[in-house]
Amino acid sequence: MKKLELHWQILIGMGLGVLFAFILSYFEWGSGFITDWIKPFGTIFINALKLIAVPLILASLIKGVSDLKDISSLSKMGLRTILTYLTTTVIAVSIGLIIVNVFEPGKSIESDTREELVESYGGDAETTRQSAQKQKESGPLQALEDLVPENIFGAASSNSNMLQVIFFAIFFGIGMILIPEKQSRPIKEFFDSLNEVILKMIDLIMLAAPYGVFALLAALVVEAPSADLFIALAYYALCVVGGLLLMIGIYALIVGIFTKKTPRFFLNGISPAQLLAFSTSSSAATLPVTMERVEEHLGVHPQVSSFVLPIGATINMDGTSLYQAVAAVFIAQAFGIELSFAAQLGIIATATLASIGSAAVPGAGMVMLVIVLGQAGIPEAGLALIFAVDRPLDMLRTSVNVTGDAAVAMLVAKSQDKLGDPQVKDWDDNYKKEESEK
Ligand code: ASP
Repeated sequence: MKKLELHWQILIGMGLGVLFAFILSYFEWGSGFITDWIKPFGTIFINALKLIAVPLILASLIKGVSDLKDISSLSKMGLRTILTYLTTTVIAVSIGLIIVNVFEPGKSIESDTREELVESYGGDAETTRQSAQKQKESGPLQALEDLVPENIFGAASSNSNMLQVIFFAIFFGIGMILIPEKQSRPIKEFFDSLNEVILKMIDLIMLAAPYGVFALLAALVVEAPSADLFIALAYYALCVVGGLLLMIGIYALIVGIFTKKTPRFFLNGISPAQLLAFSTSSSAATLPVTMERVEEHLGVHPQVSSFVLPIGATINMDGTSLYQAVAAVFIAQAFGIELSFAAQLGIIATATLASIGSAAVPGAGMVMLVIVLGQAGIPEAGLALIFAVDRPLDMLRTSVNVTGDAAVAMLVAKSQDKLGDPQVKDWDDNYKKEESEK
């Protein structure tokens, strides 16, 4: 019998997870059961994905950079990558601004709903504001300073230092390019084989994906806030969702124009990573799967994907920047503040920078939203208005973040002549080979 494709398996897992949680919520013991006995499997699944992230970046980026053989190809690719990332982010923020200005969702918020929201979520909003405060207090070059770790083992010991690990890997790769090939060969072989082992580990983790997302979604349903607040915020949420879906369409279009690949090919290839991003709300946790899909299913050469994708997972967040633009203007509208054209241009700049600075973890976009609000003179207390629907929007914007990374990887690969045919390896390929060799 033909095996069901992975994205269908994951979708079924998600659907069953939601259904299971709804059914169990009817019983008094249901939510406790899900929290105690189902949720841990979701956490284990996310942990397994995160576990792979640092070794994967090290192995694949060092291999990718050292394969380039000369520094000028590296700087050319680096420049193209950063410029394309910036362009897609500015497009995303602009789409967000157009939508929120045309549909004006903030004007439909009644004042008693606003008060109810501020009352229910004021405390959470304050916590978010405090975590943003630390970022705001740092100097203008802090981000650059943070890029260079003083100890690689220290940096590699936490997933929140991904950019430092990327810096080390690129630096290490450059060192390898600059020494004679005879001397770099053993270390290159070591990283090549480490890379293969890690890719195989990702295949194994993905076997558990349908069960992992089942657990994650079931836990989300029982922890979700009341439906009434969702309804009050539906118009705002619809604007964000509409913008995010439009963005996915734009990626498919741009990829089609520049690479001649059909939208179906692109979206089919990347869909398991999109679904995982949706279930985990973390582009960092999804990175191993994004890399695998982009290399094996979209045909991007590992030299490009290993460079473009880890950087993208940390700095390219188009979904996040679009959401920040809509949320900022929505809050201004709800408080009756008129934003001038200049203030909206300011939002393009700050939302672009804030999305670069957002960590690739759940809820990070909302923390950085505080900075966008601060710059535009919008009351930060307004965060309380959007708290109730933040999680579902986070799920969708993370999917868009990951889709954007994949699209840019294809564009950069095409421009470097490194876009080929998909080379799909099944998780049990080696096993089958050994069997047939017997
Ligand atoms: N959760 C998002 C990500 O990991 C970031 C955010 O928008 O909160 O890509």
